Amino acid sequence: MKAVYPGSFDPLTNGHLDIIRRAAKSFEHLFVVVFDNSAKKCLFSVEERIAMISEAVSDIPNVTVDSSSGLLVEYAKKRGVGVIVKGLRAVSDFDYEFKMALMNKKLAPELETFFMMTSLKYLYLSSSLVKEVASYGGCIRDLVPPTVEARLFNKLKEKSGDDI
Ligand code: ADP
Repeated sequence: MKAVYPGSFDPLTNGHLDIIRRAAKSFEHLFVVVFDNSAKKCLFSVEERIAMISEAVSDIPNVTVDSSSGLLVEYAKKRGVGVIVKGLRAVSDFDYEFKMALMNKKLAPELETFFMMTSLKYLYLSSSLVKEVASYGGCIRDLVPPTVEARLFNKLKEKSGDDI
């Protein structure tokens, strides 16, 4: 069975990577898809987010990194995917993910959503928290892959230059 793991990945964290590695072991093929249709204002472009994920998963043969801006269920149909993988951290994720899973079930009854619990060490890890810590110069070394760390600090430097 093929699966899709959607998200904004702005940027990829070790929490995302943990879900990707575990899901890739459980499914025949995993599409990690950067979705660009959320209300979120992202720091990185879709191309940059794809590049960061691709660098981090290059050792996993059954993972494809892709992007989409339409409905997730349409993407799943196009790729012949049967499962949507979602990561769950705290209770705060649950309400939103529950709504999304029920809506996707209504749109495509044949598609199942599988929830994977976060690993304990990534329970409080989110892209937004990583960006906040990095913007104040804090250490994010164990929270994101090394290439993401470098790109994030470069991006923040670029942005602060833009503000002047
Ligand atoms: P966020 O901006 O909240 O970090 P994304 O939209 O990039 O989230 O997340 C994509 C998916 O990854 C969602 O299913 C989200 O719940 C999950 N996820 C994000 N961070 C973690 C984490 N630390 N552990 C497990 N799952 C996570």
